[in-house]
Amino acid sequence: MQTLTIQTYRHLAIFKSILTADKGVIKLKPLHIVACLLVWVGALNWGLVGLFDLNLVNMLLGAWPVVEKVVYILVGAAAVYEIVTHKQNCKLCSS
Ligand SMILES: [Zn+2]
Repeated sequence: MQTLTIQTYRHLAIFKSILTADKGVIKLKPLHIVACLLVWVGALNWGLVGLFDLNLVNMLLGAWPVVEKVVYILVGAAAVYEIVTHKQNCKLCSS
């Protein structure tokens, strides 16, 4: 219960930091969060393709090929961003 409350608070804090990225919050945090989500989407999709021959992005967005392609490009761009900024964001690498 305690953990759940902390988690909920964290999620609210993340959303708040996206909405109010200008003051008191590290400016690149919202971008990092968005990039992380995109990289997870891409990685999970690759896992599903490998395991079950199931392309979820194609299933959901296949009807809009341009949108599907934009998602793939954004996932790639997000991965590049996360690779470049990894060292400053990663607790293990920066210690
Ligand atoms: Zn690292």
